[in-house]
Amino acid sequence: MSLPFRIGHGYDIHRLVEGRPLVLGGVRFESPVGLLGHSDADCLTHAICDALLGAAGLPDIGHFFPNTDPAFAGADSQTLLARVIKELHGRGWQPANVDATIIAERPKIAPQLEAMRRRLATTLGLPPEAVGLKATTNEGTGSLGRGEAIAAHAVCLIERRSDA
Ligand code: MG
Repeated sequence: MSLPFRIGHGYDIHRLVEGRPLVLGGVRFESPVGLLGHSDADCLTHAICDALLGAAGLPDIGHFFPNTDPAFAGADSQTLLARVIKELHGRGWQPANVDATIIAERPKIAPQLEAMRRRLATTLGLPPEAVGLKATTNEGTGSLGRGEAIAAHAVCLIERRSDA
């Protein structure tokens, strides 16, 4: 029997370096350091992409958007997430809800949580209340605690589309 719901999990981490913009959940932060990566390195959006792809039983984000492909250099990760949603739709799935946690020692994430939630909800085609978003520090421990990187975890539920 094929269930009408599937769950997925995603995780991503990117290194913080000088001279890069900091983008999380499609929202630009005022910060002297930003995330290093081939695209805009938005680890929150990448974790959500992987949760959705995993739920659909599809390969990970690196398969769809290789970091060796110049087409994705500096790419807006909201565009990548929109493409992931399209892949799901093509297989008869749609997101039902997403819940994610950002782990960052700096900058302060909380003031932008609502903006990120709304931006992600728009890209996901979900109402904002179907997107859960939290931020925590790593209590000063390890590489995340030293502010060397920002990481994100995400889980999601996807459901069969009514027309599938
Ligand atoms: Mg990534």
